[in-house]
Amino acid sequence: MTALAVEMPTPLWAGRAIVRAAGRMALHVAVEGALLPAAAMFTVPVECRPDAESAPGVRPWAGPVDEGRLCASCLRALRGDPAPEPVRPTPAGTAEALSDPYLDRRERRLRVMPDLPAYAEPRLPAEHGGRPIRWSEWGEAPKQVHCSSACNWCGDTGPGLMAGGRQGNPLAKDDPLRWFVAYRCSYCQEMRVYQQAGSADLKLIAHFKPKSPKGVRA
Ligand SMILES: [Zn+2]
Ligand SMILES: [Zn+2]
Repeated sequence: MTALAVEMPTPLWAGRAIVRAAGRMALHVAVEGALLPAAAMFTVPVECRPDAESAPGVRPWAGPVDEGRLCASCLRALRGDPAPEPVRPTPAGTAEALSDPYLDRRERRLRVMPDLPAYAEPRLPAEHGGRPIRWSEWGEAPKQVHCSSACNWCGDTGPGLMAGGRQGNPLAKDDPLRWFVAYRCSYCQEMRVYQQAGSADLKLIAHFKPKSPKGVRA
């Protein structure tokens, strides 16, 4: 079975040059057709300041781009939204009407914003070798010191989730205690379930394939 790819919406800034304002972390979107000089630092019109006169000093940006790091004014310009109205001071003694047109408009806009896709949580195996496994609740997995805890599939930096499982009955001779551990990525839900075979040995007994596109969080 192959993993199903989830359609990702094309970002608003696709095809545009992304720049970083000098001395700041916010990323800006260069105006359509803007030519970026090869210099380490240059001025270029960006969506939030599109006139060449006041173009800010920027540097090229080749790193990952996600909406959280993009300048809010640039995004607004790309979406074609009007600039937000300044907050009006409320005269003392008057209650703000609930049907404030600005708030209504803002709420409407929030509702149509696409959400990050959410992937369904896999179910832990209820049994192994014909015997039931009792599982703990999912908790945050401890940080790995010797290797990266980033998800192999989607690149999410974690921390991932972990659950412990137990099988057997210490009072019954024919039902030995066995221990299990499950690791799951909290974004793409890739899950691996292991039986603890020795003091440090983990034997993979189940693998839940993620449905997210590979490398989506890298
Ligand atoms: Zn901007
Ligand atoms: Zn993942």
